[in-house]
Amino acid sequence: MDIDLSPEDLAFADDVRSFLADNAYKAGEDFGQWRFEWFEKAKAKGGWDVPKWPKEFGGPGWTPTQHYIWERETARANTPWDMPFGVGMLAPILMGYGNKEQQERFLPPIRTRKQNWCQGYSEPGAGSDLASLKTKAELSADGSHYVVNGTKIWTTAAHIADWMFCLTRTDDSGKKQQGITFLLIPMNDPGIEVKPIITLGGAHSVNMVYINDVKVPVTDRVGEEGKGWTYAKGLLQHERTGIAGVSRSVFALENLKRNAASVKRGNGTLLDESGYAKKLAELEIDLMALEFTELRSLASASAGAAPGPESSIMKLKGTDIQQRTQKLTVEAAGIFGPAWGKSKVGPDFGRAGMGGYLASRAYTIYGGASEVQRDVIAKNVLGLKKSSGK
Ligand SMILES: Cc1cc2nc3c(=O)[nH]c(=O)nc-3n(C[C@H](O)[C@H](O)[C@H](O)COP(=O)(O)OP(=O)(O)OC[C@H]3O[C@@H](n4cnc5c(N)ncnc54)[C@H](O)[C@@H]3O)c2cc1C
Repeated sequence: MDIDLSPEDLAFADDVRSFLADNAYKAGEDFGQWRFEWFEKAKAKGGWDVPKWPKEFGGPGWTPTQHYIWERETARANTPWDMPFGVGMLAPILMGYGNKEQQERFLPPIRTRKQNWCQGYSEPGAGSDLASLKTKAELSADGSHYVVNGTKIWTTAAHIADWMFCLTRTDDSGKKQQGITFLLIPMNDPGIEVKPIITLGGAHSVNMVYINDVKVPVTDRVGEEGKGWTYAKGLLQHERTGIAGVSRSVFALENLKRNAASVKRGNGTLLDESGYAKKLAELEIDLMALEFTELRSLASASAGAAPGPESSIMKLKGTDIQQRTQKLTVEAAGIFGPAWGKSKVGPDFGRAGMGGYLASRAYTIYGGASEVQRDVIAKNVLGLKKSSGK
C-alpha cells in the first residue's frame, strides 16, 4: 500500500491549510455570521462546503486521498460546527432516491446550513432492532397525503430542527423490513411535540418526539412506498464511518499528551508514570492500527470499490478509542475531574474532561450499538455462521 502523498496532494494540503488559516474565527466576530460565511467561502473554493457530495450536485469531486487530507487538516483547525443530518445523511438519500423537485427544494437550504434536519428512526420499542418500528403512516382515501402517528426517541437536535426525515410503517402484513416508508416531516407542524431528554453529562441534545395526526403530502415521501428500509440502510453506513472520527482522535490524543505532560508527578510528569504511560501507549497503537485500516479502505476506494461492512470495524474501534481518550483525560485531571462544570478548581482540561467522558458513554450506543457491529463483522467480514444452538 503506497501512502506517500504525490506533489499534487502536497500542494492541495497547503491550499487547504491556507484556506483554514485565512478563514479561522477571530475573537469578537459574530459567530453565527462567521459560520454561514465560512460555508459560502468554502463553496466558492469549488464545493469545499460539501466535500462528500458528487460533482454533479456541486461537490468538489476529490480523490479519496484529498478527502483524507481534508479530514486531517479540518480536525486540527477551528472550523464551524456542522450537523451530520442534512449534508451528510439526508442529502445522499435525496440524490439517490429523491425526485428532481425534492432535490431542488431541499438540497440548496441544506447546503447553506440554514435548514436544520433531525433523524427520526429510533422508537421506544425499536433501537438496534430498528425494523420493528411502529410509527404509523396511513394513506388518505384520495391518496394525497399520509396521516402519521407515533413516537420517536433519542432524536438528536429535534428541538432546533426545521425538518425530520422519518421512518414510518405503511404496511405491517409482510416481513418487518418491508412496509417501511421514508417521509419528510416539518417540525413546525402543530401535531409535533418535542420533549427534552437530559443525558448523563447534563446536556440537552436528544429528545422525545410525539407525532400526532400529522398530515404529510405524498410529495414529501422519498422514493417508493414500502421501500424505506433500503434507503435507511444505505444511510447508516455513511453515519458509521463519520462517527469513527479517526482524524479527530489523532488530534484529541495529541491534546491528551500535552495535558498529561502538564500534570506534575515527583520530579517528572504524569507521562513518566508507568501505569499511565502504558495505557497511553496502548491507545496510540490501537489508533495507529485504525488509521491503517482507514488508509486501506481509502486505497480500495481509490481503486473503485464501494464502502462495505468495514464501516462497522471503523465504528466499533473508533468509538472505543474516543472513549478511552476521554477516560485518560479524566484520569489525568485526578481529583479535579469530578469538579467539572462551572467550578474554577484544577486545570481547564480537567473540567471539560468529565463532561466529555460522560457524553462519550453514548458513542458505543448510537449509530448502531457495539454488540450489533460485532455481529455485522462476524457475519459479513469474517463469514462466521450462527451456531445452530445444538
Ligand atoms: C446520544 C444519543 C443520540 C442518538 N441520536 C439518535 C437520532 O438522532 N436519531 C435516532 O433515530 N436515534 C438516535 N439514537 C438512538 C440510537 O440509535 C439507539 O439508542 C441505538 O440504536 C440502540 O437502541 P436502543 O437504545 O433501543 O437499545 P437496544 O436496542 O434496546 O439495546 C440494548 C442493549 O442490548 C444490546 N443488543 C441489542 N440487540 C442485540 C443483538 N442483536 N445482539 C447483541 N446485543 C444486542 C445492545 O448492544 C445494547 O447493549 C441516539 C442515541 C443516543 C444514546
